[in-house]
Amino acid sequence: MHLAKNLLTAMIGKLRLTNSLTRKKELFEPINPPEVGMYVCGPTVYSDVHLGNVRTFISFDIINRYLKFLGYKVRYVRNITDVGHLLDNGEDKISKKARLNKLEPMEIVQKYTNDFHSVMKIFNVLPPDIEPSAIGHLFEQVEMIETLLSKGFAYQANGSVYFDLTRYNKLYAYGKLSGRKIEDLINQSRTLEGQDDKKNPLDFALWKKAAPNHIMKWKTKWSDGFPGWHLECSVMSTKYLGTQFDIHGGGLDLKFPHHDCEIAQCLGASDKEPAKYWMHTNMLTVNGQKMSKSLGNAFLPWQLISGNHGMLDRGYSPMAIRFFMLQSHYASNLDFSNEALNGSVKGYTKLANGIRILKEIIYPKHDSLNVNAALINQINKICDDCHSAMDDDFNTALTIGHLFNLLKKVNSLYSKQIAFTDINKATFNRMKTTLLTFTEEILGIKPEKEINGHNLLNILLENYVEAKESKNYKKVDSLRQRLAEEGITVKDMKDSVGWAYNE
Ligand SMILES: [Zn+2]
Repeated sequence: MHLAKNLLTAMIGKLRLTNSLTRKKELFEPINPPEVGMYVCGPTVYSDVHLGNVRTFISFDIINRYLKFLGYKVRYVRNITDVGHLLDNGEDKISKKARLNKLEPMEIVQKYTNDFHSVMKIFNVLPPDIEPSAIGHLFEQVEMIETLLSKGFAYQANGSVYFDLTRYNKLYAYGKLSGRKIEDLINQSRTLEGQDDKKNPLDFALWKKAAPNHIMKWKTKWSDGFPGWHLECSVMSTKYLGTQFDIHGGGLDLKFPHHDCEIAQCLGASDKEPAKYWMHTNMLTVNGQKMSKSLGNAFLPWQLISGNHGMLDRGYSPMAIRFFMLQSHYASNLDFSNEALNGSVKGYTKLANGIRILKEIIYPKHDSLNVNAALINQINKICDDCHSAMDDDFNTALTIGHLFNLLKKVNSLYSKQIAFTDINKATFNRMKTTLLTFTEEILGIKPEKEINGHNLLNILLENYVEAKESKNYKKVDSLRQRLAEEGITVKDMKDSVGWAYNE
């Protein structure tokens, strides 16, 4: 973005990433450079986006930003699942929510898509280049089913169409991404309702005949039904990125069966391995325990922001949360605790203050320099280290460490421990550009007011009113404090809550 063109060119060809398919760290060599195609499985829009999703999309946001920074022409596709994602009892997640709320399924889809977009915006996640939806690609899904039927990789049974894994396994190996063996899977498989039409219990649905009371269904020659969940991603990645593209990503929980099924569908339809590199983000834990609704330790993004959850001591600003997430590698587990989050607030504040100071510093004019060559080398080395850390499988944690090392030099300049005459203008400019570009453009950490402002204020005020209404005074106090941190004073009036920016 801002670095010299020759420097950008030098960076290309050094990036290495962990490929889940080969289980190795590999040199990134796109199929058609400078173009890069990246597909990431998006959310199923039937409820509030959970924090695990936020982490996944922040991780791929970093990957998208860094690839673009390196000079690649990235086409980033992230889908919206609006049909076909079934519960264990066979009911569609969106249909169920629509039935319970007496709404049109598309009202549910719209509401949670809008909510998802605002959460992404709050965390400064850039939108993808294409955001296709499953319902918007029904024709293409039917087409792929026909191709799979004509090639003998699918069969019809009682109005449904299933993928034929027995036939597939004669040519390819199902489960190679997750490393699962088909015999073990057969032993573990459960027979679910309406699945007895299958030849093999592991065969998965491409088209499912709908029960009479099922709301979301479409007419095809097979039946009034709906597409299987795995199909949409194969169809939409092929449509927008071609039969072979560079990166396919998603959360670790999608590796099996979703991603193994996607590979099977694509190989069956085109005889081509869809993605060259598969990347997976790891899961979230809270105080070392898996985050789950049943354990009562799963908090939603807005709860983490407002502090409105029993596990949380206080709320945290979206940029501090983003900073917190980037302090672990995307492929490692991310553990939430009040201590770790508070540590991140300190780190984020330090970084934000440093950047603010840096923006104000201009290299002064000198008659003569008395340069310190060792110091100049040191500064240049730290700038190089920022690139190397990102080139090493997008190691954001290490990058942040190097940025802090650069900040120390900035602070020394500011406090006059280092004289401007010690370093030349070029070195100062490189230090400034590296710090600003890596912090704001690549890591996406910007001053909170520039990103949020009103959005954040609304979340905090809504929670404040709710806490007051439910007479949860501990939360009222903690939210009042959070609002003060954002420079806002709340005023309790008789029937409402007023607010004002502090002078
Ligand atoms: Zn998917």
